Order: sequence, then C-alpha cells, then structure tokens
Amino acid sequence: MLKTSGFLIEHQCPQCGAPATLEETERLFTCPFCRVKSYLVTRDYFRYMLPHAAPAGQSLVFLPYWRFKGSFFVSLPGGIKPRIVDVSQQAVPSPLFPVSLGLRSQTLKLRFVSPEQDGVFLKPKVSSKDLLRLAEETFTSSPREPKFAKAFVGESLSQIYSPFYVTDKVMDAVLNRPVSPAVPGDFDVSKMEGGKPDWRIEFIPALCPNCGWDLQGEKNALALSCSNCNSLWMNNGKGFNRLECGLFPAETQDSIYFPFYSIRADVSGINLRSYADLVKTANMAKVVQEGWEERPFRFWTPAFKIRPQDFLFFSRNLTLSQPPKDYVPQLPQGEVLPVTMPAKEAVESLKINLASFIKPPKMLQVLDAVEIKAKSLVLVYFPFQRSGNELFQPAFNLRTNKALLEYAKHL
Ligand SMILES: [Zn+2]
Ligand SMILES: [Zn+2]
Repeated sequence: MLKTSGFLIEHQCPQCGAPATLEETERLFTCPFCRVKSYLVTRDYFRYMLPHAAPAGQSLVFLPYWRFKGSFFVSLPGGIKPRIVDVSQQAVPSPLFPVSLGLRSQTLKLRFVSPEQDGVFLKPKVSSKDLLRLAEETFTSSPREPKFAKAFVGESLSQIYSPFYVTDKVMDAVLNRPVSPAVPGDFDVSKMEGGKPDWRIEFIPALCPNCGWDLQGEKNALALSCSNCNSLWMNNGKGFNRLECGLFPAETQDSIYFPFYSIRADVSGINLRSYADLVKTANMAKVVQEGWEERPFRFWTPAFKIRPQDFLFFSRNLTLSQPPKDYVPQLPQGEVLPVTMPAKEAVESLKINLASFIKPPKMLQVLDAVEIKAKSLVLVYFPFQRSGNELFQPAFNLRTNKALLEYAKHL
C-alpha cells in the first residue's frame, strides 16, 4: 500500500551552475560543489516539464497536467472516511491528448518550466479547485448520504507540462509516437491559447533573516531553524516568516521530537472559544471546573506528512487533550521529525477535526453553518519515546509505531 510515487528533477545550482538532481519534495538544496544552500520557493505551485526527444524542426506544444497528492476526508453519518489521493489530470481538456500523465513522470527526470524553453505552453483551463471537485465526485459516490464536512489536505500540488507535436496526428514528443487518431481537418493547434510560461523557479538564500546565520533543516523541510538565535522560519513564497515555536522537554535521551501545529481560530456557528466549550461540544464526561471558561481552545494537527487515518487520530486526540501553554520556547536538540505539512493545509483540516469529536452525532448537522478562520499558529514539538516497535508520548497518551516514521519520510 505504501506509495512512493515521487519524481526526480534535473536542474542547476543557482550559484555555480553545477548540474544536480532534486527529489520532488526537496526544498533546501545544498550544492555538492560550491556547498551553497538555497531554498526553492514559489508563490503558488511548482511547474515542471517532461524532457522531449522530438525530431529537429518540430514545433512543440506543452500540455499542462495537474498533479495532486494528499488526503481527502469526508464526514458521513457513519464516521469520517479518510483516503489517500494521488491524481494527475489534463489542465487543458482535449480529447486528442492523453487524459493523464500515466507513469511517465516517475520514469523520466523532470525540469522546472522556464521561459527559455522553445515551444508553446498551453494556458491551463482547469483550475486546481476544479481538479479537486472532480476528485471529490469520484470519492463521494453516494450522493444521498449527508456529508457534514469534507477537506482535502494536500501535500503537493503541481503542474507538469508534457511535450507534443502535431503531424496528421498528435505525437507524444517524449516517445515520438502517436497518441491520437488522425486529427480532424479543422484542428489547428496554433489556435489553442498559450505562449511562453511566465513562471520560473526561484531560490532564496537559506540564511536567517534575524541574524544572518545559515538556516538548517532536512532537505524536505518546510520550516528551517537557526541554531544561533534559536528561531524557526517558514517560507512564504518570497522570503521567510518567523514561526513561534516551543517544545515539551523529553524525559528520555533517545526521544524523537514530532512537530505539531497549535492553531487559534475563530469558529462561527458554534461555541468553541474555551476549554469549557470543548467539554460541552465533545460531550466529555467531565464537570466544567473553575477557570476552564478562560482557557482558550486551540486546534492541534500534525505538522508532518502522515497517513490520513493517523493524521486524524493525532489531530483528534491532541485537540481533545488541549495541551497547556507551558511548553518551553526553544528548538529541540537531537532527533527531530522535519515539518513537512504546509500550515495552510493543516488549517484546511480543522473542520474535519471538529467533526471527529463533536457529540452527540446529531450535532454534526450544525457543521454546515460552521466557519473556521485560523488566527494564529504555534509550532510545538512533542517528545516520543521508543519502546520496541512503538513510539509513545506518555503525557498526552499518544501512540504509534515506527512504520509511521518510514512512511513520513517517503510520503
Ligand atoms: Zn553550486
Ligand atoms: Zn538566527
């Protein structure tokens, strides 16, 4: 079941021009030649292209395909149904071109799209929202069942441009073979909207904006740390924003720290401002104590990639535990799982999180009117202890097995 469908990207070091191969999830690039570290950024999503092998003189047309990897959750009367999503689909609908990329993006090295590439890049007509709506239709096949909440939690969204040229047929310029029957007489590929891509990959120096020190992190990390001024940074598409962070100290030497987001949010349509509100909303077997009205409620979600059912398990249990705000404002030493879940995507999951604990079940009806707006976010590291094949967090009673780590690294 483990899917490792990531692809490889060929590119050059922005500093010295040396050739390099990146993994799809790689963000922090350290050049093996000049040792300079740079961070890959984009304002929206990454755009790649497949290399072509077309005969000289052919006019190339690049058709964009969407690619989405992540999880989909839907809250149904019988509970929340999580699933893994890994889809690719035409971003310009055309019956003459292949409907999806197939496996080619996994067998060939991609490149970043660049305006220097010859050929016409067709303008996408299908938005990422359209793509997710179509995916959702295939997942929620019984239209009569009420759906109280749903969410896509993405790990990656990108566009991959595949090269073609047109003779009497549409030819795949990767394999140089036809992918369509004879094209209709009135088909004119030059009438399709397109041009040079107005996008290129951007790199920013991986330096602490606060003190200028080298930022550190795993190559797939979305948050980088500065050990000099003890700060944590997340890229915002053009630079780095500081992220408030903290940790619960480890009790054993060989603990491994897992990152979680703690999210303050405005929740409308339901009372969920305090711990006392949570006790009522989740119908917990507890009597509201003095002071609970003043303890602000926070959502919690994993900040690392994880199987959808585990994501839900951690989100629900930590949110119900409401860890107190007495974490130490420090970065962990030793083994740390990198932040690989974008904060924006974690925020997407909040309504599903709420759906996972709201009780009694007839209360699920109110979710329709609920809107959740994230206001602030803190990254908190929790130490997990090892015991045989298990990893556990005694203070908040979280348990998982070591397979999760392997999964987190390969997802
Ligand atoms: Zn270099
Ligand atoms: Zn610093």
